[in-house]
Amino acid sequence: MMTKTVLITGASSGFGKDAARLFQKNGWNVIASMRSPEKETELGGLDNVLLVRLDVTDSASIASAVEQGIARFGGIDVLVNNAGFGSLGVLEAAPAEVVRQQFDVNVFGVIETIRAVLPQMRSRKSGVIINVASMGGRVAFPFSTLYHATKYAVEGLSESLQFELGPLGIQVKVVEPGGYKTDFAGRSLATYGAGDLLDYHPAYDAFAGKVDDWPMSENVWEVAEAIFEAATDGSEQLRYPVGADAIQLLEATKQMDDLAIRNMIAGFL
Ligand code: NAP
Repeated sequence: MMTKTVLITGASSGFGKDAARLFQKNGWNVIASMRSPEKETELGGLDNVLLVRLDVTDSASIASAVEQGIARFGGIDVLVNNAGFGSLGVLEAAPAEVVRQQFDVNVFGVIETIRAVLPQMRSRKSGVIINVASMGGRVAFPFSTLYHATKYAVEGLSESLQFELGPLGIQVKVVEPGGYKTDFAGRSLATYGAGDLLDYHPAYDAFAGKVDDWPMSENVWEVAEAIFEAATDGSEQLRYPVGADAIQLLEATKQMDDLAIRNMIAGFL
């Protein structure tokens, strides 16, 4: 069997870095893309790993990373859209640049990267596109409106895209992690709170007091395993919830109406 090649965005840390390690360990060629490859000290030393600069908000860097990957390995079999960041706070208090950046990275970046790999996948009549959304792409918690909006967008995009790409031999998959203790909260979260909008303070402050106690799984590698499964199982399965919280919550909501879901989420907080 020919060695397969995966392109991963946001491979500098967290799920993306774990996925790069896991694919490489399983004999894949890995295009480990990130905003600052010059800072990466581990992945570049592994066999069959190409470190490339790719900022999902910079079209030229997406095109160049895809081109370099194809030049080195001959093609891209799997794209993992993992890069992302979060935001926390009251919608009305969100700085305009955060609103824009949230969608630029989590939605437009995903769309641009998909469009950049498609010509080559179409010509080979095969490929897998894996979008890392979240359990928060199907259930929404308070004070994360922008983040949820982007992850719901990724879900809708993926669900629709499977119809147009399936007949061309290209599968679309969504990995939906629950809460995992990556560096996400430290390095990839814009927190703007309620600012000086006093009306929101009682609810936001109560929420902020509890949010740090939200249970986060230490088993971060499970997400890379789910990504790898999605890349290799050859099935038409669209969604891969991962983590006990995501699996339980998404299962529970299947039997509930919107009001019951709202009451359940409010009850957690
Ligand atoms: P993480 O370690 O902070 O990873 C986020 C990655 O995205 C970093 O490598 C970051 O790169 C990259 N990134 C941010 N902006 C970028 C841009 N403009 N272009 C390219 N890369 C960019 O956190 P993580 O938990 O592994 O998150 C990975 C994905 O999982 C995200 O899409 C996140 O929404 C999703 N997710 C996380 C959780 C969780 O509980 N951790 C749950 C559900 C979903 P830099 O190093 O350059 O900042």
